[in-house]
Parts: sequence; C-alpha cells; structure tokens
Amino acid sequence: MQYDIVIVGSGPAGASTALHLAQRAPDLAARTLVLESAVHPRPKLCAGGIMPGGVSWLTRLGLDLDEVPSTNVTEAHFLFEGRGFVVRRDSAVFRVVRREQFDAWLVGKARQRGVAIHEGARVRRVEVHESGVSIETDAGQYSSRVVVGADGANSVVRRMTMRGAPSRLSRLIEARATQSQVGIDLTSSIHRATVDFSWMPEGVQGYFWDFPVQIGDCAGRTWGVFDSRACLGSRPRSLAPVIDDAFARQGIHLDGVPLAGHPLRWFDPHGPFSIPNVLLVGDAAGVDPLLGEGISFALGYGEIAAQELMDAFGNNQFDFEDYRRRVLTHRVGRYLRRRAWVARLLYRLRSRALLRCAWHVLGFPVGKLAEWLLVDWGTPLRSL
Ligand SMILES: Cc1cc2nc3c(=O)[nH]c(=O)nc-3n(C[C@H](O)[C@H](O)[C@H](O)COP(=O)(O)OP(=O)(O)OC[C@H]3O[C@@H](n4cnc5c(N)ncnc54)[C@H](O)[C@@H]3O)c2cc1C
Repeated sequence: MQYDIVIVGSGPAGASTALHLAQRAPDLAARTLVLESAVHPRPKLCAGGIMPGGVSWLTRLGLDLDEVPSTNVTEAHFLFEGRGFVVRRDSAVFRVVRREQFDAWLVGKARQRGVAIHEGARVRRVEVHESGVSIETDAGQYSSRVVVGADGANSVVRRMTMRGAPSRLSRLIEARATQSQVGIDLTSSIHRATVDFSWMPEGVQGYFWDFPVQIGDCAGRTWGVFDSRACLGSRPRSLAPVIDDAFARQGIHLDGVPLAGHPLRWFDPHGPFSIPNVLLVGDAAGVDPLLGEGISFALGYGEIAAQELMDAFGNNQFDFEDYRRRVLTHRVGRYLRRRAWVARLLYRLRSRALLRCAWHVLGFPVGKLAEWLLVDWGTPLRSL
C-alpha cells in the first residue's frame, strides 16, 4: 500500500506528529498512515508525569487532558539526603497519567481527526530508496515517500536507516503498587512527589523517584531510578539496590512486586535526526538527559516534524537537511540543549560535600533555577 507519510509508532511523538498534521495540513494527514506494533490500550513502562509544557502542547492541539484520569502533584520535593527544595502549586506542579490510558486517548483523537492507524503491525525492515521508503511489517508491505521514526528508544527506523550512529541511552527501572500492596497509608502523600538525588555519590547519574499514581480505583505509587549516563566513561552501577535502599529508609516492604526496566534515548545535539526521506521524533531522536522527561518533549517534536513535512511536500524536496537546525532552534531543542548541558555538569559531581552544598545551602536559588528549567519550560499558555 502506498502513502505519502508513514509514521512508525503511536506513542506521544507519533500521535503528536499525526495530530499536528491533521490540524495544519488535513490533506497530508489524509495521506498519512501510522503503524503501531501493539494494540491500544497497550502497556508502556513510564511514571506518567506530564509537565506543564506537555499540557501546553495538548492545549495547542485543542486537546483537554482532563478527559484522561490523572493525579495532580501539588508538591514536588527535590532532595539530597533528606533536604532540598520544594516546588508547590495550588493547581498542579505536574500531573500523573497512566500511559496506557493517555496514549490510547491520543491515538483515538488522531483517528477522529482523519489519520489512519494500523495497530498490530510491527515494522521489521525499513529500506530507503531515492524515491521513497519501503516498509516491511508483520501485517504486510507498505511504501511511502517519507517515514517518520516515532518508535521509541529502541527505534527500528533509526537502527535500519542510520547504522553506526552513536547510541546515548539512559537506564530506568520502575515498580508500582497500590496502597494495599504497600501496607502503609498513602492518603497523606497522594499529591506529593519526591525526586531524590542521594545516590549520586555512589555513581547514579540521576535520582530515585516516588510519584503518586491511580491504579484502577486505588491510590498507588510508582517508584523508580533514573540513571542518565549523560557523563560517559564511569561504570554504571546496579540500580535495583538503590530501590531496596530507598524502600528500607521509608519502611516500605514490597515483596513480590516486580521491577521492570526500559532505556530512554537522550538528546545529543550532534546525533542524527534525519537522512533523506527519514525523520526521527521523540525517544527515537532523543529526549531529556537531566530528568528523563520524555512525554512533553515527544509531544513537542510532533510540531517540528509536521512543519518539516509540510515544507517538504510543499517544495517537493525530501532531503530534510534543515531538520536538525529546525529541532535545535525550536523551543524543544533549546530546552533539551540546556538540559543536556546541565546534566553533564551536574552528573559529573560525586562529592558528597559539594552536593550537600548545592541542595542544603543553596537550596533556594537552585530551586528557582530548577523550577524554571524543569517545571515551567514550554508554557507560553499557562494551562494548568
Ligand atoms: C521507567 C520510565 C519512566 C518514565 N517516566 C517518565 C515520566 O514520568 N515523565 C515523562 O515525561 N517521561 C517519562 N519517561 C520517558 C517517556 O516514557 C518517553 O520519553 C516517551 O514515552 C517517549 O515517547 P515516544 O512516542 O517517543 O516513544 P514511545 O512512548 O516509546 O512510543 C513508541 C511507540 O512505537 C511502537 N513501536 C515500537 N517499535 C515498533 C515497531 N517496530 N513497529 C511499530 N511500532 C513500534 C511502540 O509500541 C510504542 O507505541 C519514562 C520512561 C521510562 C522507561
């Protein structure tokens, strides 16, 4: 089957690219196909925190996050050894969704707006020719003028079309449980999230998180460890003992609750973003190496890719030579570059004394900087 555009993957990056096309170039959207290996609602390992920037992208698309069940975090604690700074907002510092619900909702919206989506079609091979792209899936063969790789951190599109490109992957592990599984009362912490950097001196280039989440009708928590690996060279340490240690400090016993892991590709301004006939978005291109925030950035990539595609079809030029500049100069690229820079600076620190100074002594200015860099990015519309 022949399409103008095939988008591989229907997470936030693929759905956002489709939704931006539907909003700005409905004719092109009608000649676009999204291929998805899973069937929505499908599980996706993710803590589900959506920053105001993400809500702002949704608002620009005419979408209302209130249609999806979510938990408001009104207090976010950024800690090192028990002390640090707190960001408080009456409405929400950020919101927490279940990814299976959020992604299925986004895909439903793209469908309603005229984009064709084939689920259960895993892409196996992608071949780029001068005049277009051939795509082989479990469900048949497709060809298109352009392919958009929105297929996540382990992107097949990236692997098959940009061989040899350096791989910049963060490591994440996660566990989640309801109140009854944890055995302690969670009601007092239902709107509180904690991001704890106490394991940096031991080589974790990141933090332990503790977020609220709604699991069915029950209050629950998601815990995990983000290890950025933004500073290359040092040996990665095992992450499961960090969770054990954090649980021991909080008196949580979680026997039998499984830990699962998944990588996240971090943004490298020198990494590949496109080749002729191929664009990458979201995790396939690279997201935040500082906190591992990917949902908002994936949504933002959709706007950049849609504009690039509209220009390409308008000019009948598919070399995508300008895409890197477009990414780097867009709000998304500017914030990702800043975060990559801060990540490389911060995660180099292993001295306990320096880290205590940053969190305990300079808590207020560091907190204000963090609030601007982490919470308020990308919110021209104050939508929370
Ligand atoms: C443990 C963990 C916790 C996280 N917590 C947060 C958080 O709290 N907040 C936040 O902002 N970010 C978080 N992230 C990051 C976030 O999940 C990702 O950055 C985000 O999902 C990227 O969106 P995407 O659309 O690029 O990719 P994905 O969401 O991975 O979507 C890719 C889609 O492509 C499909 N696909 C894959 N391969 C193929 C194929 N061969 N053929 C067809 N389809 C394919 C997949 O099924 C999937 O639907 C977390 C990540 C992890 C691992």
